[in-house]
Amino acid sequence: MAFPTTRLRRLRRTAELRNMVAETRLTPDAFVYPMFVCPGEGVRKEVRSMPGVFNLSIDEAVKEAEQVHSLGVPSVILFGLPDKKDEVATGAWAENGIVQQAARAMKRELPGLVLMGDVCLCEYMSHGHCGIVKATPAPQSLGAAARDVVVVSNEEEKDRAIEKLARRVQPEYEIVNDASLELLAKTSVSLARAGIDIIAPSDMMDGRVAAIRKALDEAGFLNTPILSYAAKFASGFYGPFREAADSAPQFGDRRSYQMDGANIREAMREIAADVEEGADMIMVKPAMPYLDVIAAARERFDLPLAAYQVSGEYAMIEAAARNGWIERERVMMESLLSIRRAGASIILTYYAKDAAKLC
Ligand SMILES: [Zn+2]
Repeated sequence: MAFPTTRLRRLRRTAELRNMVAETRLTPDAFVYPMFVCPGEGVRKEVRSMPGVFNLSIDEAVKEAEQVHSLGVPSVILFGLPDKKDEVATGAWAENGIVQQAARAMKRELPGLVLMGDVCLCEYMSHGHCGIVKATPAPQSLGAAARDVVVVSNEEEKDRAIEKLARRVQPEYEIVNDASLELLAKTSVSLARAGIDIIAPSDMMDGRVAAIRKALDEAGFLNTPILSYAAKFASGFYGPFREAADSAPQFGDRRSYQMDGANIREAMREIAADVEEGADMIMVKPAMPYLDVIAAARERFDLPLAAYQVSGEYAMIEAAARNGWIERERVMMESLLSIRRAGASIILTYYAKDAAKLC
């Protein structure tokens, strides 16, 4: 039946009609609020690139979590800023680690709040990578290598040859996969012991879900679910988070473990691997630049699907709104709706509180 019998505008005429036929709805119970816990007392330090988001000491974090919960948001995910970092991420798995302490305090005050624990090592490693770093032996000095490949007659030629070669030489470090699994498993058990309800590994090492599941089961946490950051892309949108969690890598980047933004088929393989290893829920991160990946994952997998609206997505909206270039609330809700429409039933977002008030 075509126009003029069919008039699609009929159902858009009033707010009531539009609401009645809405295919996608946002509700506070879809949201998870990310929180950054730091040492001290009475600390509320705003993250420069994420206005409205704070590093909070445990006492303040408990107050904030209380507020989040009272708005109907069922869950928070905790990230930690330890007072010391080292080469084995002690702060991630220590019994009195910052997230462990925060989890105990929150469980005591807010037993009904679902606590997610981000499991990664970058915030606790002095080098800021998500796994153990091993130096690989340098083949030889670049100067010597240059002499081997080209005959250089003067300094200038030598410099040019070295520069050219440097681009070809592999980085002299490696993020060691299997050894990192042990620390991730240890961290997960430690978080479960502290009262974390859902273990959420974000490191992107191969085999971490299986390693974590095994360790949790052995420690008696058979009923603790794993939400894996199954398809986590190497993304420029994480920039502000690195300031918030003080987790920028000190050298190199994360492209050898996080996914290449060009690949959706590989994302499906990553998710399938995590499901196979025992993930209970899966996540795609970031959200807005990867809505197609969310939609494809929804189509293909039957597990609960989460998406993380990351710091850069938040910062862009905030910055444009502050300049008066967009309507903040409208764009905030539209961005969340798009993630939901793509197929994510759980959204990790810095807008959890503000959006819950408008749902
Ligand atoms: Zn990490």
